[in-house]
Amino acid sequence: MAGSGKFFVGGNWKCNGTTESISKLVSDLNSANLEPEVDVVVAPPFVYLSQVKNSLTDRIEISGQNSWVGKGGAFTGEISVEQLKDLGSKWVILGHSERRHIIGEDDQFIGKKAAYAVGEGLGVIACIGEKLEEREAGKTFDVCYQQLKAFADAVPSWDNIVIAYEPVWAIGTGKVATPEQAQEVHVAIRDWLKKNISAEVASKTRIIYGGSANASNSAELAKQEDIDGFLVGGASLKGPDFATIVNSVT
Ligand code: PGA
Repeated sequence: MAGSGKFFVGGNWKCNGTTESISKLVSDLNSANLEPEVDVVVAPPFVYLSQVKNSLTDRIEISGQNSWVGKGGAFTGEISVEQLKDLGSKWVILGHSERRHIIGEDDQFIGKKAAYAVGEGLGVIACIGEKLEEREAGKTFDVCYQQLKAFADAVPSWDNIVIAYEPVWAIGTGKVATPEQAQEVHVAIRDWLKKNISAEVASKTRIIYGGSANASNSAELAKQEDIDGFLVGGASLKGPDFATIVNSVT
């Protein structure tokens, strides 16, 4: 890893789980042996945040999967940054491709959300990544830079931001990026930060990979110099597999 922070692994549980299955997952995580030098975060569905916060070891931090763009109020169905903080969340995932491409959130809206969350002291897991047709058209870097710029134009500081590079074609498909494909984009992201923000931000910002990361491929990916951790979907729903990914730090 090249980011000067610790290896960072997040589990994005998405819209999965029941009281019972989440209780089993939490108990598996509580008994897992996790490498001490890794920041570990899980993002349960909002409705289970309290359950998870009250039963999960403090070793693992909690994240929201999304947050409202400003202070809470008359916004039916939304969850505010203040509420996430109230329930003990330290992080929020923003710009996930499922929010961009299924729900229709655009770069500017996501940038505003990130600015609000960072301003209120929440860490942001800022997701970017290209679709398959964009990769095939040779637009991977352009798409990532554009999404990155929208975050950069909006946020007041990079102190509490982790960038998740998640190629859309790899998310939930079982088609993981090769270590070389991931490294190529991670290094480009770091260069972009260096040119457009500062050398300091480029060297200290963690850039994590997401998209079909699992217990069998994480160790190879983690060997790449610019891969500073993972954002894990499917495999984070299995405690032992998630622990293996956390422990794949090299
Ligand atoms: P996946 O999801 O690991 O199931 O591909 C990753 C993500 O969406 O963050």
